[in-house]
Amino acid sequence: MVDGRTRVVGIIGWPVEHSFSPIMHNAAFRERGMNWIYVPFPVPPGRVPQALEGIRALGIRGVNVTIPHKEAVIAHLDSLTPEAQAVGAVNTVVVEADGRMWGTNTDAPGFWSDLQAHGVSVTGEWVLVLGAGGAARAVVYALARAGANVTIANRTVGRATTLAHRIHQVLPHRSFRVVELRAETLAEEAQRHVLLVNTTSVGMWPHVEASPWPEGVGFGRIRVVYDVIYRPRETRLLRQAAAWGCRTIGGLGMLVRQGAEAWRLWTGDVPPVKAMEEAVRRVLEE
Ligand code: NAP
Repeated sequence: MVDGRTRVVGIIGWPVEHSFSPIMHNAAFRERGMNWIYVPFPVPPGRVPQALEGIRALGIRGVNVTIPHKEAVIAHLDSLTPEAQAVGAVNTVVVEADGRMWGTNTDAPGFWSDLQAHGVSVTGEWVLVLGAGGAARAVVYALARAGANVTIANRTVGRATTLAHRIHQVLPHRSFRVVELRAETLAEEAQRHVLLVNTTSVGMWPHVEASPWPEGVGFGRIRVVYDVIYRPRETRLLRQAAAWGCRTIGGLGMLVRQGAEAWRLWTGDVPPVKAMEEAVRRVLEE
């Protein structure tokens, strides 16, 4: 029940109605019996400064930030964590009691903590990452931070080069390679890597028959394939990889853990990850 003591958090984006975050976060508050509520706030492009001022004025504890505002919020925050600086995007804002607002990016720790939950170690390894968009920035940073060297394969090679430079500046002791995402290159790269992470949007609902991995190309020495896409739960890429004998991991765990990390920052409590995962799983299966 909402009453005079209810604490408010939420999400700003445009649009926001398809977000799973309200379901996931409100399930966590229910699970813990906490008088908190997570509300979707549709904020049109160009209205970010007013939205942030409103959040501060209304005593809202924090918000998630989704497309298209993840970069636009940066200029209006008081400070950023090293994660947000490295990734160049904010997906979580925390408002302190004195009104100070800081931004962080929980995609990187969300991905990393899900890899750990699956017992996948990357320290000292070379990891092959497909894609160089927003998700790739978080994944490449998380991998490099954990001690991996990264090959980035992208359709637009220039974008991969920019990403490699960006993360190399922050983590100069890691090595990065950039290749074009096409069949001949991937066949070769598959012989050099044991872990593959897809961060492209290829195969995401409703284009579920698409895959970033060309049909007929083997997975070589790759043993683990992680696809950050969470809808569908099992992408075509994961089916191809499983048929080759690889271990496969879908993006649901990363989604839940990036949310759990934001929840922890706002509430200061240990997040009920299992309840959050069950809530998202239920809506994904609907
Ligand atoms: P984005 O910034 O738009 O980047 C899209 C990437 O996909 C780019 O590298 C793009 O290559 C590549 N791509 C798109 N269409 C392609 C095609 N037909 N052939 C080859 N490459 C193609 O998107 P994003 O924000 O990174 O999101 C990517 C995916 O990650 C989405 O499915 C999203 O749902 C998922 N995601 C999951 C989580 C999670 O928590 N599990 C978190 C964030 C994102 P170019 O550079 O050549 O255009």
